[in-house]
Amino acid sequence: IDKINQKVKEGKTFFSFEFFPPRTEEGVENLFERLERMVTYAPVFCDITWGAGGSTADVTLDIAARMQNQICVETMMHLTCTNMQIEKLESALKEVKKMGVRNILALRGDPPKGQDKFEAVEGGFSCALDLVKKEHGDYFGICVAGYPEAHPDGIVDDPEQMQKNYWADIAYLKEKVEAGGDLIITQLFYDVERFLQFVKDCRSVGINCPILPGIMPIMTYGGFKRMTGFCKTKVPAELDAALEAIKDNDEAVKNFGIDLGVKMCRQLLDAGTPGVHLYTLNLERSALAILERLGMVDPAKIPRPLPWRHVPAGTSR
Ligand code: FAD
Repeated sequence: IDKINQKVKEGKTFFSFEFFPPRTEEGVENLFERLERMVTYAPVFCDITWGAGGSTADVTLDIAARMQNQICVETMMHLTCTNMQIEKLESALKEVKKMGVRNILALRGDPPKGQDKFEAVEGGFSCALDLVKKEHGDYFGICVAGYPEAHPDGIVDDPEQMQKNYWADIAYLKEKVEAGGDLIITQLFYDVERFLQFVKDCRSVGINCPILPGIMPIMTYGGFKRMTGFCKTKVPAELDAALEAIKDNDEAVKNFGIDLGVKMCRQLLDAGTPGVHLYTLNLERSALAILERLGMVDPAKIPRPLPWRHVPAGTSR
């Protein structure tokens, strides 16, 4: 089976890892060293992001090919429409198909810098999904993005309007699924109940495909603030207070992030979520520590000791 939605329907609890394309060649090689270690844990798939506006197109394509054919892990490549002429999108899709990658996360993308609203390029598409289906029928497994707290554009102070925007997003998500999306990965969140409600709401309108929670372990205070600010993520008050109290201690923040990740994943899995999708930020420590503590990976199976086990206490990676 090559399509991820079929793999995740097999019934076993699973996990998967997201990576982004590093900026330098050295960074890419470091990423592959990590990937080699991380795939020994048997993620059900790994995905690689597409830089805003196609800025990383070549690197992303190259990494996707190596992940699929050299690392031999089922690979999903993200693809966005922002600033992408149809021909460019078409050739990217032809190329990934040639490389044997069968899974795409089809996205619209954010508006280019300095622009408030998304606008399709002339003759372009408003979601990569349109193109994937048009040109390649059923060849690709197509994942789409979901927003448990609504898309950031729809997050407003007025509760009534907020509800309207939330349900409009769900209606649009349904359209994406009806147009061929067969898997949903969500935006990061820290309120597990919100995710579970989102799944219920999706099911109530007839969205029946698997919905994977996107989990971003907190690794640094600054990174957490940046991401939650950018995505307008709701941060529960207890979490905010606990983090504020340790924000100057990097190691404590990392450990807090691992504890929280374990707690969130456990709650999700106990509630019947079929698996967890971890935003690794290209680092292995937090993601693997969470999985180990959940009992989802067997450290005895790892061919070499995990590197951080040798890191003296008090230093951070
Ligand atoms: P869409 O689902 O197309 O829509 C976004 C919003 O617009 C929703 O509110 C929707 O309701 C509304 N909308 C759009 N079209 C219509 C329509 N025709 N009718 C009604 N409403 C409509 N960005 C990157 O640049 N690279 C990446 O690799 C990347 N990976 C991501 C992975 C995940 C799991 C997620 C959740 C996001 C990712 N993003 C990435 C960010 C994403 O590009 C932005 O959030 C972007 O603003 C929306 O893209 P989308 O495909 O989710 O949008």
